[in-house]
Amino acid sequence: MAAAMPSRQDDNVVYHLRAGDHRMPLNERIGEHLRLAWSGAIACTHCGRATKKSFAQGHCYPCFKRLAQCDTCIMKPETCHYHQGTCREPEWGEKHCFQPHIVYLANSSGLKVGITRKTQMPTRWLDQGAIQALPVLEVNTRQQSGFVEMLFKEQVADRTNWRAMLKGDVEPLDLVAERDRLFDLLADGLGQLRDLHGADAIRTLDEKPLDFHYPVLTFPRKVVSHNFDKQSLVEGVLQGVKGQYLMFDSGVINLRKFTGYEISIA
Ligand SMILES: [Zn+2]
Repeated sequence: MAAAMPSRQDDNVVYHLRAGDHRMPLNERIGEHLRLAWSGAIACTHCGRATKKSFAQGHCYPCFKRLAQCDTCIMKPETCHYHQGTCREPEWGEKHCFQPHIVYLANSSGLKVGITRKTQMPTRWLDQGAIQALPVLEVNTRQQSGFVEMLFKEQVADRTNWRAMLKGDVEPLDLVAERDRLFDLLADGLGQLRDLHGADAIRTLDEKPLDFHYPVLTFPRKVVSHNFDKQSLVEGVLQGVKGQYLMFDSGVINLRKFTGYEISIA
């Protein structure tokens, strides 16, 4: 599922379902009955091979073991091991990890810190169902963003509580005030990181916070989740889309989890 910013900032995030070159607009289907049926097939999103089980959101087992993007250092960038000569795909690493990353604050189910490649904004926030986001620092590499995130995690969460995110009762925050508060609290730690990596490596940003609105008619009071691995048919009246979730009157489904699944829609 692809999420895109609306042309006017106050409008809803625009969602499409993607399959190859085909794109199905989703916003206009909200309020309608939708039926998603999984055929039982899963194709690796990297090599296309059929796989019985999906690893790391849509990979076959050989790709999962071989690709740098499936290594644990992607989830924990501070553990980057490129310099030990053990990167699974050094060229991929150079292209994706040795480029500017952003450390941001977002409000998805409350305040959280996160990191993203510069080119992944604002997709990253939309995928998390954030209602607000504010880039606060720019760093030179993915590993440096991991070090900064570790520091921020002493004070703020780095995870979204997806049930709270889907219930929709998330209070707006003053992200600029939160940023300034955290910069004060973490001044020593940031100073140490700058000493270690060079004063220029970790740059303070002065951006404006962004707001995001999601196409949702009704938020669920109780969050029940669907799972294709347990039940190949998911259907109901589509009540909204937020983050990577479709919200049906019968329950929610995280489509990201089922990347690579062959699904027909009616
Ligand atoms: Zn594969």
